[in-house]
Amino acid sequence: MDIRSELIRIIYSSVPMSLVTILINSSILSFILWGVVAHTTILIWFGLTNLCSLSRFWLYKKFQLLDVETSIPVVWEQAALFSSIVSGGLWGAASLWLFPENDIAHQVFLAFVIAGMCAGAITTLSSILKASVSFVILCLVPLAGQFLLLGTDIGNAMAVMSILFLLMILASSKNLNRTITESLLIRHERNQAVDTIQYKAFYDELTNLPNRRFLTDHLKQDLARSIRHDHYGAVLFVDLDHFKAVNDSLGHAVGDELLRQVSSRVRNCLRDEDTVGRLGGDEFVILISEAGDELSEASEKAQEIAEKILNLFVTTFITQGNEIHMTVSIGISMYPFEEMTSDEFLQRADVAMYQAKEGGRNAIRQFLPEMQRAIEKRREVERGLRQALEKNELELYYQPIVNSMGDVVCAEALLRWNHPERGVVAPAEFIEIAEKTGLITLLGDWVLLTACQQLVQIAENSDITISINVSPHQFSEPLFTDKIKTLFNDCSIDPKKIRLEITEGMMLQDVENTIEKIQYLKSLGLGFSIDDFGTGYSSLSYLKQLPIDMLKIDKSFVHDIDTDPDDAVIVETIIAMARHLNIGVVAEGVETEEALSFLKSKGCQNFQGYLFGRPMPFIELMKLIS
Ligand code: C2E
Ligand code: MG
Ligand code: MG
Repeated sequence: MDIRSELIRIIYSSVPMSLVTILINSSILSFILWGVVAHTTILIWFGLTNLCSLSRFWLYKKFQLLDVETSIPVVWEQAALFSSIVSGGLWGAASLWLFPENDIAHQVFLAFVIAGMCAGAITTLSSILKASVSFVILCLVPLAGQFLLLGTDIGNAMAVMSILFLLMILASSKNLNRTITESLLIRHERNQAVDTIQYKAFYDELTNLPNRRFLTDHLKQDLARSIRHDHYGAVLFVDLDHFKAVNDSLGHAVGDELLRQVSSRVRNCLRDEDTVGRLGGDEFVILISEAGDELSEASEKAQEIAEKILNLFVTTFITQGNEIHMTVSIGISMYPFEEMTSDEFLQRADVAMYQAKEGGRNAIRQFLPEMQRAIEKRREVERGLRQALEKNELELYYQPIVNSMGDVVCAEALLRWNHPERGVVAPAEFIEIAEKTGLITLLGDWVLLTACQQLVQIAENSDITISINVSPHQFSEPLFTDKIKTLFNDCSIDPKKIRLEITEGMMLQDVENTIEKIQYLKSLGLGFSIDDFGTGYSSLSYLKQLPIDMLKIDKSFVHDIDTDPDDAVIVETIIAMARHLNIGVVAEGVETEEALSFLKSKGCQNFQGYLFGRPMPFIELMKLIS
C-alpha cells in the first residue's frame, strides 16, 4: 500500500478512541457547567457534538469495509479533514457558547478541557497535518478571543497563554507528522527491497519470466499433483538455434531484444495454467500441467503445443531494424514416472532437445527410453574424468606431422585416458562431455602443463614444434592468455615451439575477442592452426582477419580423396586458397601413398596420418625423433 493510504488508515484507526474521549469530556464539561450556563445552550452543544461523533463513527464503519490491500481513494482523506474541521469547530463553539462571563474558576476549567482535547487531537490527527492544524486552531482561537474580551489582567494572561499553547501544539503536531511519515517511508522502502529481492530470486530480469528456481519448484509441485490426481504433464525444453551468431554479429542489445520478443510470443500462445520460464541464455522451459489422463493423450497434446511453438518462429523477428529469422529445437519429456525427481525430467527434456539439434535443428523430439543411456553415460564419464585427474590416469600421446621430405617437423599432442577397466580411451568419448560440463578447463590446463614440460625434454634432442588442441570453452576463459604466459615463463620454453589448434567453431562465437586473444598470443611468439578445416561452416572472411599460420584439412576430405571427386576438388581449393592467403597447410588423415602423391601434386607440404605414424606415447616419440 502507498504511504498516503497508510496515513489515512492511521487517522481512521484512532476514531473510536477519540469518540470515547469526546463523549467523556463533553459529558463532564456539561455537568460542571450545568449550574452556570443556560441549560438549552448546553443541551444543544452536547447534542451537536455527539451527533458529529455518531456520523464519524458511521464513516469509520464504512471505512473498515475497504479492501486492505488497495490504495484508498482521496475522498476518505477529504472526509477525515472535514470531520476534524466540524469537530474542531464544535469545541471552538464551546468557548463561545459555554463561556461563563464572571466565573474565573469555570472559565479556567473550560480552558483546561479544551486544551486537553487539543493535546489529545494532535496524537490522533497528526498523520494528516491539515486535519490536526485546523482542529487545534478552531478550538483555541475562540478561547483566546473570549479571554481577551474579558479585558482583565488575568483574562489577557489567559489569552496569551492560549496562543502560546496553540503555537506549541502546532509545532508538536508538525514534528509528529514528520516522524510518522518518515517511519512509514522507511517501512515502505524496506518492504519494496524485500519485494525486489523476492522477485529477483524467482524471476529472470531480462524477460520477466520465471527463472530456473521458480521452474524447478513449480515442477516439483506439479509432479506431486499429477501423482495424486493420476494425470500426466510435460516438460518442453526449448533452445534457440544459432542464437550465438545473432549476439556476435548484431550485438548483445539486439540479442536481448530478440530474447524478450521470443518470450512474449511463447507466453502468449500458452494456456494460463502452463508456465514458461527462462533457464538462462537462449534456453526456455515450458511446463504443461495436466496434459492428459492417459500418457498417449498427454504426449499428443505436448507434441501439439511444441508444434505450435515451432510455428511461432515462421514469422521473422524485427529487432532494432534487423529482420531475424530464428528457429528452435524442442525436447519433450513426460511426467510423472517411477521415483524420478524434477531435475531428472528437466535433464530428459534437455537430452531430447539435443537429439533435435543433432537431427538438424528446427525440430521436436520426445524423450525415448534409449536416450536414457546418454544421460547415464554423461554422468558416468563426468565422474570418471574427475577421478582420472585426481588419480593421474591421463596421458598425452603424440602424432608426428611430416614435411614433403618425410621429416618430422611437428607432433600433435592428443589426450588419452588410461581407464582402469576399459584401457586406453580416445578423446571422442569424453571431450564433448567435458565441454558440456565445464570440466574441459581442468583437462585443458593439465594438457598445456604436461605438453610444456615434455617439450622441455624434446627440445634437448630436436627442434620440432608441438601442436596442442584447445577447446572453445577453454579458449574463451578470461584468464586463458595470462595462464599461457605464466606457464611459458615457469617452464622457460620458447613460445615459437608451440602451436595452438583452434576450431572454426570458435570464430562463430565472440569474434572480436577471439581475434584479440590470438593477436596477443601471437605477439608472444605462439603459432596458430585451424583444426578440422572445412567442417565448421565458418565464413571465409574470418580467415583474412585472423593471423593464422596453418590450416589443417579435415581428415574426412582426405580420406576419400582418390575415390570421391568432390572431396578432391575441396582439398585442391583449400590448398590453393591457403597459398593465396600465405597460410601453410597440413593434410590430416593421410593413410595411403595415393593420397600422399595427390596432395603433393596439389602443393600441400605437411602431412599427418597413419601412413607416417599413429599417435604414440611420449617415450616412443622421443625414440622416433632422436
Ligand atoms: P584432431 O585434433 O583433429 O586430431 C586428429 C585426430 O585424427 C586424432 O584422433 C588422430 O588419432 C586421428 N588421426 C590421425 N591420423 C589419422 C588417420 O590417418 N586416419 C584416421 N582415421 N584418423 C587419424 P584422436 O586422438 O582420437 O582425437 C580426436 C579429437 O579429440 C582431436 O581431433 C581433437 O579434436 C580432440 N582432442 C584430442 N586431444 C585433445 C586435447 O588435449 N584437448 C582438446 N580440447 N581436444 C583434444
Ligand atoms: Mg587437432
Ligand atoms: Mg583435426
